Amino acid sequence: MTVRAIMMAGAVSVAALAVSLPLDAEQRPDAQPSREASVQPTKFTRAPMTQAPPAGEVEILPVRGNVYALFGAGSNIVVSVGNDGVLMVDAGRAEMSDKVLAAVQRVQREWVVRHEPAPLGFGAETRSSVADRHITAPPKPIRYVINTSADPDHVGGNEKLRNAGHTFTGGNVAGNIADATEGAAILAHENVLSRMAQGEGQAAVPADALPTDAYFVDFYKLSHYFNGEGIQLFHMPKAHTDGDSIVHFRGTDVIAMGDLMSTGSYPVIDVAKGGTINGVLEGLNRVLDMSIAEFRLEGGTLMVPGHGRLVDSADVAYYRDMLTIIRDRVEDLIKKGRTLEQVKAANVSGDYDTEYGSATGPWTTTNFIEAVYRTLGGVEVRPKPDATRKPDTTRKAPAPAKRP
Ligand SMILES: [Zn+2]
Repeated sequence: MTVRAIMMAGAVSVAALAVSLPLDAEQRPDAQPSREASVQPTKFTRAPMTQAPPAGEVEILPVRGNVYALFGAGSNIVVSVGNDGVLMVDAGRAEMSDKVLAAVQRVQREWVVRHEPAPLGFGAETRSSVADRHITAPPKPIRYVINTSADPDHVGGNEKLRNAGHTFTGGNVAGNIADATEGAAILAHENVLSRMAQGEGQAAVPADALPTDAYFVDFYKLSHYFNGEGIQLFHMPKAHTDGDSIVHFRGTDVIAMGDLMSTGSYPVIDVAKGGTINGVLEGLNRVLDMSIAEFRLEGGTLMVPGHGRLVDSADVAYYRDMLTIIRDRVEDLIKKGRTLEQVKAANVSGDYDTEYGSATGPWTTTNFIEAVYRTLGGVEVRPKPDATRKPDTTRKAPAPAKRP
C-alpha cells in the first residue's frame, strides 16, 4: 500500500469512528429536540482529516468514549470528561484560553445530556417530576491539567484553566471552605516545573500557571481511576526536551504524544533543553510498544500528536521509519568526517521534505538537520589536525593537594 493510501485508509476509519459517537446520542429514543445539539466534528475532520481548523478557532473531535481532542489552540489538547470531572492534556496558548474553556464546557454539557438519568415513570412523584423537567447536574469542574512539555503553546492556558477548575483536598470540609479556592492540579515532569519556575525561554510565568505536582521518576500514575479508567504519564527523557511526558488513557486506549510527533513537520528537537534525535526515536518506539492495532496497523490504539491530526499505529510507524532513515544517513556522514555544512548540502531529507520540511517559520528543515547532526555527536567546525604537535611528556604530574 502506498503511503498516501495508508494515510487515507487511516483517515477514513478514524473519521467513521468520529461520526459514530454523535449519532449514538441522536439515535437515543428519548432524545429531546430541545436539548443542546451533540458535539459534531466539523466538515474538516469528517473527510480528509488533514486540514487544520480555521485560524483562531478551536475544533472538537470525539476520539473514543469520553476522550476528545481539541485542535487549533496552539498544541493539540486531549480532554477526558465524565463523572469525576475533566482532565486535560496540555493547555494550548494563553490567548486561546477562553475558546479552549468554551470547548471544554461544550463537551461537558454534551456528556451531561447524554448521561441524564432516564425518567423513572413510577414511584415517588418528586422523583419522576425531576426527571421530566430535565434538570441536569451542573458540569463537573476541571480537576487535572497535564503538561507534556514547558513550551508556551502547551502551558499558556495553565493559569486560566487551573482557576476554572477544582482540586478535591482532604474531606468535605476542606472542599467547602469559601477561601479554599484551589484550582485544578497541574501535573508535569519536574524538568517542566524547573524550566517554568526559572522562566527559561519565555516571559515570566505567574505562580498559578506552574505545575502543582511534579514527578521525577520514569512514570507517574493517578492513584485512582478517573472517569472510569487508569491514566498514566511516562517520561520521555531527551526527546523533544528533557521533560516530555506522554499520557496513556488505559481504558479508552488513547495516547497523548506531546511533541514526540507532529504530522505536518519534522519533530522539534530542542537541543538547548536536552532534546535529541535518538530520544525522539526511543519515544516513538515506546508508543508503538504500548499500542495495539485493530487490523494491520490500522485503528486500535489512537494517538493524538502534539501538533497535527489524529493518528494510529501505522502513522507512528511511518514517522518513526522516516526519522530512522534520516538519522542513519546523518550518522553515516558523521562517521565519514563530514562537517555540518557538508551534511546540509548532502540533502539527506530530500525525499521527505515535501511532506515534513519547511524553508521558513520557527522550525525549518535546516534547524532539524542541525539538531540531528549535533545530538549525534557531529562537530560543527572540525579543528585542523596539527601533525607537528606532540604530547607533552616533560610536565610532572601535579602533587596531591595537602589537606588544610
Ligand atoms: Zn508543541
